[in-house]
Amino acid sequence: MNIVENQPSNKGVKKEDTQRKIHDPITLNTACRQFNDLIIYNRLKHLPKVDIHRHFEGSLRLSTLSQIARMFKMDLPADPVLLAPMVQMVEEVADFQVFLAKFGTLRKFYQSPTIIKRIAYEVVADAAMDNVKYLELRFSPQALAAEKGFPLEDVTDWVIESVREAAEDFNIVVNLIITLVRHDPMHLAERVARIAMDRKDYGIVALDLAGDEVHFPADLFTGLFREAKQEGLKITIHAGEWTGADSVRQAVVDIGADRIGHGVRALEDDSLMQMLKERKIPLEMSLASNEQTGSVTSIIDHPLKEMWKRGIKVTLNTDDPTICNVTMTDELAFAADYQKMNFFCLYDLTYNAIDAGFLSETQRESLKQYIRHEWAQVDEDSDKKTF
Ligand SMILES: [Zn+2]
Repeated sequence: MNIVENQPSNKGVKKEDTQRKIHDPITLNTACRQFNDLIIYNRLKHLPKVDIHRHFEGSLRLSTLSQIARMFKMDLPADPVLLAPMVQMVEEVADFQVFLAKFGTLRKFYQSPTIIKRIAYEVVADAAMDNVKYLELRFSPQALAAEKGFPLEDVTDWVIESVREAAEDFNIVVNLIITLVRHDPMHLAERVARIAMDRKDYGIVALDLAGDEVHFPADLFTGLFREAKQEGLKITIHAGEWTGADSVRQAVVDIGADRIGHGVRALEDDSLMQMLKERKIPLEMSLASNEQTGSVTSIIDHPLKEMWKRGIKVTLNTDDPTICNVTMTDELAFAADYQKMNFFCLYDLTYNAIDAGFLSETQRESLKQYIRHEWAQVDEDSDKKTF
């Protein structure tokens, strides 16, 4: 198959696609960038995509948040224009503490079981409407339960139930990952890990570790992850996002991570790069998020393409669509625009994500066939151009 980049052209560009970034609340760093090649953006939007790193808690619709604020008379603005800076990276310097603080505000919106189910449904619907065909959605039961003190088990089951319903309604395959939060109390991590293990046959495929990587190293959680792995769950760890290459090595060697969330700092260590390549450890990268948290100085300087060239199994993902104000289409368009990755590269990133996905071999093969067939169509009506 020969999938190549298209020549820029304005032919066939829909008006609503080109105006998206103008009307939505924008994030200072990432969304100030305009998509230079609108024909590529539009093509990417209609191609089937894969996202294996998306947080439920970073994916709430702004319009829904506004309704919840009004409905429950919350001490937060219902006006989306005033609300946006509280839950999105707007007019701020890139910084992980600022980024994490958005989750603190978002936790206040989980006001009832109905709301949590509605949000879960909408998160899947939004991915499907962006033509994401396989989604791995991660969530922290304690984040959803904190505001109203809901039982963690119940919250988990509400999400499982609602996600399953939305997946059927929107023809998308979704697997769930439960996230342990580094900076939450350890007893919560222990309870949540148990909840994940108890539901490994009911939609939960993996355990994740996220949160403040700087002050809470992953080795605090080694025992929990080893137990989860023995019980059949896969492991993905946020590492090398806000601390150095050592945290990536620790996640892989000491904890047995099957995948690494972000891992941008791995590039600093050649021996680690070699190990990631040899062990075929996939990295779940996100251009917008990595820029907004300060993991990289800009999307242009992101190591995505360099790592791809060096044979690392890199994948591209949204991380937190609401906080970052991005879609999966945006992420791929950023890679095309600012990393100068052509359609073949973008296809490879998508293919890598299917390979790295925590899905059954039957699901994987069927998804590969479908993606291969759909992306191959790009070639038929495109001008050929390689980089
Ligand atoms: Zn993440």
